[in-house]
Formats: sequence, structure tokens, C-alpha cells
Amino acid sequence: MTKRTKKVGTAGRFQSRYGVRSRTRIREIESVQKQKHVCPRCGQHAVKRTSTSIWACRKCGTTFAGGAYFPQTEAGTSIDKILKGEAVAPSLTVETK
Ligand SMILES: [Zn+2]
Repeated sequence: MTKRTKKVGTAGRFQSRYGVRSRTRIREIESVQKQKHVCPRCGQHAVKRTSTSIWACRKCGTTFAGGAYFPQTEAGTSIDKILKGEAVAPSLTVETK
């Protein structure tokens, strides 16, 4: 048996289990995961995932929580904007009587 890891990449360890679709998705996620990400503090491409949702910068030592698979999620970015006052969260609007 020949391992065709070239074709399936990191998802090769699952062999034929879970179906092609989920394996393709895993490969996409893991290839992004393994890249170095930009640090929100020092701006260097030195952020690596240390654990689920935990990201650490190797340059400045910052550890921060982010998405489970990516340092920044869409939800996290919009929350940042709300906190900076750049956007208003419709769900957070309190009606005053
Ligand atoms: Zn940094």
C-alpha cells in the first residue's frame, strides 16, 4: 500500500475515513492553521497556534485568544469594531422608556 500523502496533504492520516468532503475541509483548515499569522501587537508574522483558540507570538511573547482554527474570526473582528466604537451592535441596543 502506498501512502498518497501528496494528494491529500495533512488529511492523509485519516485515509479513507470520514469521506472526501470533510478531509478536503480539514486539509484547508490545517494548511491555514500551520501558517504563521500576523501578531496584533507587533505586526510580525510570528503568531502560532499553541492550543485551541490560543495563539502566541514568538517575537513579542503575546498570548491571546482567537478563533479555534484562525487567530481572527469574523465574529471577533466585529466585536473589536464595536469595542472601538466603529460599529454599533444592533443586539446590544437598549430601549429606553
Ligand atoms: Zn508579536
